[in-house]
Amino acid sequence: MTFESFGFPSLLLSNIKAMGYTAPTPIQSQAMPAVMQGRDLMGLAQTGTGKTAAFLLPILTRLVNNKPTGPRRKVRALILAPTRELAEQIHEAAMDLGRGTGIRSTTIYGGCAMSRQLSALRQGTDIVVACPGRLLDHMGQRTIDLSGVEVLVLDEGDQMFDMGFLPGIKKILAALPRQRQTLLFSATMPDAIRGLAAECLTEPETVRVGNSNPVETVSHAIYPVGQHLKTRLLQELLDRNKSGSVLVFTRTKHRAKRLAETLAKGGLSATSIQGNLSQAQRKIAMDGFRAGRYRVLVATDIAARGIDVSQIEHVVNYDVPSTPETYTHRIGRTGRASRTGEAHTFVTGEDVSMVRAIERLLREPLARKKLEGFDYNASVPAGEREFQRPPLEPRARAYDRPQAARPSRPYRPSGHSDRSASEGYTSHPAQPGDNIYASDRPAGDRPRSDRPAYGRPQGNRPLGPRVQGSRPQGGTGYSSGNR
Ligand code: AMP
Repeated sequence: MTFESFGFPSLLLSNIKAMGYTAPTPIQSQAMPAVMQGRDLMGLAQTGTGKTAAFLLPILTRLVNNKPTGPRRKVRALILAPTRELAEQIHEAAMDLGRGTGIRSTTIYGGCAMSRQLSALRQGTDIVVACPGRLLDHMGQRTIDLSGVEVLVLDEGDQMFDMGFLPGIKKILAALPRQRQTLLFSATMPDAIRGLAAECLTEPETVRVGNSNPVETVSHAIYPVGQHLKTRLLQELLDRNKSGSVLVFTRTKHRAKRLAETLAKGGLSATSIQGNLSQAQRKIAMDGFRAGRYRVLVATDIAARGIDVSQIEHVVNYDVPSTPETYTHRIGRTGRASRTGEAHTFVTGEDVSMVRAIERLLREPLARKKLEGFDYNASVPAGEREFQRPPLEPRARAYDRPQAARPSRPYRPSGHSDRSASEGYTSHPAQPGDNIYASDRPAGDRPRSDRPAYGRPQGNRPLGPRVQGSRPQGGTGYSSGNR
């Protein structure tokens, strides 16, 4: 299938070419014919599959073929996304794909002044890419008119549900014209999303992209290690893998910040992105990472949602995720659009049940790895006490299972107070090859996929001149609360 076969206007075809897209990705081939016909869609696909263009190209075609008339433009396409970063990425993709068409797009999300959004809305915009919280604020203040919406896109439905946006989305749905096209994208299909689909889609075409499963394109490995040696192990790992961008996940904002600082002190180009940063700071960190100025980005799960950096080669789970689904979301950041990538997960004695839960979800054993020559018996490095303590957040109870192999014992490294034990933190330094980490099944690295890569050759997003429209700058926090 070629892009020419969908009937896009020639200007869009040349923009597609300029983006470096030579052929549609599977989600694009499967979804776009139905979307071009005006049908509703349930798209089961993760970020990284090319789903953004799968909905933007038909929307842009509709807008180009039926150009707005009259002095005031009404919002004709509304795209809801869970995070500001994702909203920005969609908006930028709309600008790139719609270059030269005169179509206007604007973003609406919390954490920044209303004034810029108000003036963009007053000037008139064709596409609004919004996070639900701030959009509801505008609706409450009657500063946005949604009576002309022809297409609604709900992107990353499961993430929006996880973040508690479902009641807000239902309010937004109730305020939209009944006669419209609705496209719902979600990586997974929990009951809540099934319910939402039944409520808002009419005879939808359902498209599922098989290769959205990162298991297929990513090689996974877990590294048993003591909590206190994680930073050293990471530094060693980065030293041995000198190429490619690295996204590191920690469980808390504080750990993300401190870890990035420690890595930077050690000479690595590292930065962090977490909810304590202002929007302007986050943008500097993200742009620097995308442009390759920072090789390492340390992030929390919420901050990293939907991040699209085409060439992340390594994802490191410095702390295990709190649910197995989060594992797939995290590693979905690498191996994107059928590229290959590597996922490295550091596990301590406490993480056994989560590792097993991840293996059950992936239906794959995770390879256990040990870095040859790394001193797993080293004592706590001075000045790195920060990382001795296990994360503060409670574990996801659903996955806590009795750990039969060995009871965990309080971890009290020298010079560390008893505070962690008294607060209920328990951990023990892992021993490489310790049985507690053994998989039920034989482990081995998954073979890399040799499918062709879809992405652009250069990896970094070309930030071409904006089509038109405005983009809010600065500000702090998420519309859903600062995380
Ligand atoms: P998405 O899943 O929409 O976040 O897209 C992931 C990445 O794939 C983005 O960097 C897109 O620019 C890129 N992409 C989307 N469609 C194509 C295509 N047909 N060929 C090459 N790259 C693409």
